[in-house]
Amino acid sequence: MVKIVIDKVTKRFGPFTAIDAMDAVFDDGAVTCLLGPSGCGKTTLMRMIVGLEQPTVGRIFFGDRDMSGLPPRKRNVGMVFQYPVMYQTLSVEENIALPLTQDRSLSAQERDKRIDEVLDILDMRDKRKLFIGDLDAGSRQKVAVGRAVARRSDIVLFDEPTTNVEVQAKLLLIRAFKLVTQRLKQTIVYVTHDQTEAMTLADCVALMRDGRIIQYDRPADLYATPATEFAGWFLGNPGMNFMPARKTAAGIETPLTAAPVAADAEVSGNGTLTAGIRPEHVRLGATAAPGAVPGVLKDLSVTIAGRFIANVRIEGDTIVKVKTDEAIAARPGDTVYLAADPAGLSFYSDGNRVAAA
Ligand code: ATP
Repeated sequence: MVKIVIDKVTKRFGPFTAIDAMDAVFDDGAVTCLLGPSGCGKTTLMRMIVGLEQPTVGRIFFGDRDMSGLPPRKRNVGMVFQYPVMYQTLSVEENIALPLTQDRSLSAQERDKRIDEVLDILDMRDKRKLFIGDLDAGSRQKVAVGRAVARRSDIVLFDEPTTNVEVQAKLLLIRAFKLVTQRLKQTIVYVTHDQTEAMTLADCVALMRDGRIIQYDRPADLYATPATEFAGWFLGNPGMNFMPARKTAAGIETPLTAAPVAADAEVSGNGTLTAGIRPEHVRLGATAAPGAVPGVLKDLSVTIAGRFIANVRIEGDTIVKVKTDEAIAARPGDTVYLAADPAGLSFYSDGNRVAAA
């Protein structure tokens, strides 16, 4: 097992900076998900780790070994691509065995043991003799994963491997990835722009934006305490609510709280203060309640999981998204009442988290 160290790495393509002075350590034996919007540099970073691109500036280490200038074949990194190259005329087990047969130090017995182990974890024993062409997209990706991990390389990189798999098969596939990564304890870097996938799989998420890692945290911590407004907005479905707040002698005033909140925030930069709260931390009621503020229900919808999402317009023309398990007896246009769970409130200045309630 080796950790991956990104040491002051910049990658430029002509005048464009795809990775911007990045410093990071991806823990050994852990799954790190690179998560971020399209174009933020996830693929570029991964291509540098595998050796398909070289940094313009800076170095990448595996443990204490400097990888500068080393071609991909000398890095001992397994890869799972969006569109894996599979040998249609070979069976499942022959595809998994391919990289192992190139390793002359492996006995036939050890090779078979590894194939059995991988087929077992992937729950594919009964498919071992099938040809790749007989499999659906999800099973083909499982074989690609099996092939990448059977080599027991120190590091395995996954590049959006579920993109071409339909939703139902995707969940099974992610479960299979999780089992593989837990059992084999290789260092995994997993690129995705799907937050559910990242939250399910990752030991740590590296949230990227504009060529930088803006937060590196455990999934639950990243969700609970986003360090920036961007992280709060990007994670969550729907993302965090933001509204203007004001620091006074009595505390912080927000349009969602009837009284000032007891919190002290250091206001920086342009001097504005923003309150952030997740939709599930706002309570929605049809009648007035202590501490609640009035608003007008704009719309109400039901999610596939049977939860309710409401959009409510409150003072200052602020739209607040609410997510709740309880149905409410109100229609669009009705007056409703919102109450913030104080534990869910945090405050941002210049886009950065400066305080919590
Ligand atoms: P996506 O989720 O859409 O794949 P990404 O986060 O993986 O996005 P990258 O593919 O790493 O993003 O690209 C980062 C930026 O660098 C993009 O703006 C892209 O256009 C640019 N870029 C990547 N490769 C090259 C290249 N070879 N030449 C020029 N620009 C490039």
